[in-house]
Amino acid sequence: MQTENSHANGDEPPSVNSFQSLKEFKSAGRGFWRDVSDADWNDWKWQLKHRITNAEQLQKFLPTLTPEEFAGAKLANTKLALAITPYFFNLIDPADENCPIRLQVIPKVAESHTAPWEMSDPVGEDSHSPVPGLVHRYPDRVLFLVTDRCAAYCRYCTRSRLVSNATGYDFHPEFDKQIAYIAAHPEIRDVLLSGGDPLLMSDDKLENLLSRLRAIPHVEFLRIGSRIPTFLPQRITPELCAMLKKFHPLFMSVHSNHPRELTTEVRDALGRLADAGIPLGNQSVLLKHVNDDAAVMKAHVQKLLMCRVKPYYIYQCDLISGSAHLRTSVRKGIEIMQQLRGHTTGYAVPQYVIDAPGGGGKVPVNPEYVLSHNADRVVLRNYEGKIFEYPEAPDGRPCGQPPERIEELCKC
Ligand code: SF4
Repeated sequence: MQTENSHANGDEPPSVNSFQSLKEFKSAGRGFWRDVSDADWNDWKWQLKHRITNAEQLQKFLPTLTPEEFAGAKLANTKLALAITPYFFNLIDPADENCPIRLQVIPKVAESHTAPWEMSDPVGEDSHSPVPGLVHRYPDRVLFLVTDRCAAYCRYCTRSRLVSNATGYDFHPEFDKQIAYIAAHPEIRDVLLSGGDPLLMSDDKLENLLSRLRAIPHVEFLRIGSRIPTFLPQRITPELCAMLKKFHPLFMSVHSNHPRELTTEVRDALGRLADAGIPLGNQSVLLKHVNDDAAVMKAHVQKLLMCRVKPYYIYQCDLISGSAHLRTSVRKGIEIMQQLRGHTTGYAVPQYVIDAPGGGGKVPVNPEYVLSHNADRVVLRNYEGKIFEYPEAPDGRPCGQPPERIEELCKC
């Protein structure tokens, strides 16, 4: 079957029509759950309770399940659990084995193959953890892990060593110790709540935690990292938004990888968060056959802007054990960035990064636009491949000759 992104396999690029179709907002619909009442379907607790969590359920709801997927689902409970909300499951195209939604949440037996360079903690979080559940890797900010549970589990998860507790990591955050560490370190001005997914906590528990963090005078800025708006938009209730808006400045990093994840339900949920004054950024992971394609990525970032979300990062997939089948090349990532920068709105262009293996932090990776740079001049290449020269200003002295074709350097 020809799919919207199948040219990632080397076929023809998508037509204008399929690009427009990627950009359309559609509802996930009800699928197998058409007889469920609106009240239940729109209740996030109902969605959690009715998740698909084992191979037999998957086979029932997805008769096209392949033997590789069935075997992967059987193994999931020893590596990273299987869970898919009914809402998100409805986005899967049952006729397409390479459906970009399916690839993200349905396990494959390939997850049990570990390449020599893969790791269980690829970005070195455990070695930068002064107390359980807190990662202090950058000077002025910390990662505060609140839970090991998610609404659904992404097969490429960097934290799969601990989320879902399938490997027996036995994650036990200790909020008192985490908060005491932050209070004792005045250099920490930014706290990012993550997990697992912080929005799985009840409103009351989350409010209590945010209040305690806000009470620390040197904490200037709070962030929540969450995939709930795309896995479980029903969770973004007016009550949750009203509670969150008490804690500004509070930003949220959401996680979406493919334009089909941006449904009418997700757009409405993100709109509620934006109306609560929460600045929204999106983090995507570059994944083979999911979004390693410039047209798919372009449709995605443009659609994010329509949802009032700034595309923030594209991550090169971390070297997590068992993820080789989902990883695409850095060369491909650079090529995609090259086809975004200058070709679409600057606000739509995220930063492509590699989280340096072992704990080096995020390193920006960019196409080469500065071709040479010496004491006299900078030679630049623009998005169309045209070459320009800019005279270098000696430090502390006015610029000498104006560059030729200065009008070409205008960024408007
Ligand atoms: S939602 Fe985030 S933490 Fe949870 S499985 Fe996906 S990537 Fe991992």
